[in-house]
Amino acid sequence: MNILQVSAEIFPLLKTGGLADIAGALPAALTAAGCEPRLLLPGFAPILGDLQEVQTLCVLSTPWGDRVTLLWGRLAALDTAAYVIDAPQLYDRPGNPYEDARRQPYADNHRRFALLGWVAAQMARGLDVDWQPQVVHCHDWHAALAPAYMAFAPAQSPAQFPRVATVYTVHNLAYQGVFAAHHFGDLGLPDTAFAVDGLEFHGQMSFMKAGLYYADRISTVSPTYAREIQTPEQGCGLDGLLRARAGVLSGILNAVDDAVWNPASDPLIAHPFDARKPGGKARCKAALQETLGLAVQTEAPLFGVVSRLTEQKGLHWVLAGLDALIAQGGQLVLLGSGEGAMEDAFRARAAAHPESVSVRIGYDESFAHSIFAASDVTLVPSRFEPCGLTQMYGLKYGSLPLVHCVGGLADTVVDCSLEDLADGSANGFVFHDFTQAAFDRAVRRAFALFAQRPEWNRVRARAMRQDLGWQNAAAQYVALYQSALSV
Ligand code: ADP
Repeated sequence: MNILQVSAEIFPLLKTGGLADIAGALPAALTAAGCEPRLLLPGFAPILGDLQEVQTLCVLSTPWGDRVTLLWGRLAALDTAAYVIDAPQLYDRPGNPYEDARRQPYADNHRRFALLGWVAAQMARGLDVDWQPQVVHCHDWHAALAPAYMAFAPAQSPAQFPRVATVYTVHNLAYQGVFAAHHFGDLGLPDTAFAVDGLEFHGQMSFMKAGLYYADRISTVSPTYAREIQTPEQGCGLDGLLRARAGVLSGILNAVDDAVWNPASDPLIAHPFDARKPGGKARCKAALQETLGLAVQTEAPLFGVVSRLTEQKGLHWVLAGLDALIAQGGQLVLLGSGEGAMEDAFRARAAAHPESVSVRIGYDESFAHSIFAASDVTLVPSRFEPCGLTQMYGLKYGSLPLVHCVGGLADTVVDCSLEDLADGSANGFVFHDFTQAAFDRAVRRAFALFAQRPEWNRVRARAMRQDLGWQNAAAQYVALYQSALSV
């Protein structure tokens, strides 16, 4: 089955969050499952720079009159065939793919990402005579116009090219790609698309809604989130549409790329370890404590955070609970970037407690690996969490996750309650009410278990042995593609 995977980010070339990890791991997983995936990506500098054996497929005129070049080659970092849209006027900008240096969205984002969906639709119409996608799989709002364009412009010669199916995956419903209505004319879609039964959203246009409305199949990244987004509380204004499309909506839990996240073979950590030989983990912890100027204490549980610092992530509970955590003898290491006020607050706490709290503001892939390897607990107290990857990295690296019971966190973490300890299913700490008291209690549970080292070590070993691999998720995506093709 030929799958065109369309995304704005891809690990290891360009990453702002979990989307990139999944887009980067899915091609190999689909190949192993018998598919032939190819990628379609915007020509951001790191992506263009990695493209090998480059050929020009064609030059295209966009609906708003730009000329762009579609390149084709192999991405060396992924060893995967890729189509890349070379449009320096839209993509050759420093920094974040979506925002300028002042963290403001680029004013022409509607064009920059409409282009991605539009080119995907051209591919579906038979642009490359040597390779025709059977399914276009789009990720998040950046790629969400592809199903809309495809709905209005099916394949040119249906006899030669059968209908191409569309699958749209929501990685985070909160980021929707909503733009002013006056930009609609740029898109080259018929007027009928600007309607309640289309991409109109409270007088504006929503790329996310286009994906949800026009795709043959919708998926999101965990079964619990698939249910949550159908409620007014978590539906971000789109729950009605999602309920209406519930029959084609499914949740496929993200997986972990073992080639990147495996403490036994990870070149980014100081000492390798695994469930059978966990000794390297203690050495990683001591090394990190020393490097960061924390008190080098085996007996101090080390709590780790690797996260965007946004309201979604619930880290205000960590800030407000930090005194209690320190008073109980714990330490915190945090790596993150985001909202200025939160960055400042964490920096201030580190300055006040240098032996117990270490904070690095920024984005650092290698340091993230060190934190999972060294820490005892990974904190993920998110208000909402479509899937969450850091709790899964925590599991693999023996850093027991402490999570709020939402979305993919609820699907992957089982609390260390007495009964779940007894039957061997416990692998972390879960709080249900989104309150300071509930968070603090979960932290106290982590301390209590840490004090019982044989039990802690048993839970940790089981967590590290959990199968979080891609095989199961890839099989579910293949089944989803097949059902999209059967429409
Ligand atoms: P989200 O996509 O909402 O940011 P996820 O948990 O799904 O959250 O994925 C986050 C990904 O980004 C993980 O791979 C995590 O390790 C990584 N990450 C987040 N912040 C940083 C950072 N400051 N430095 C390095 N990696 C980070």
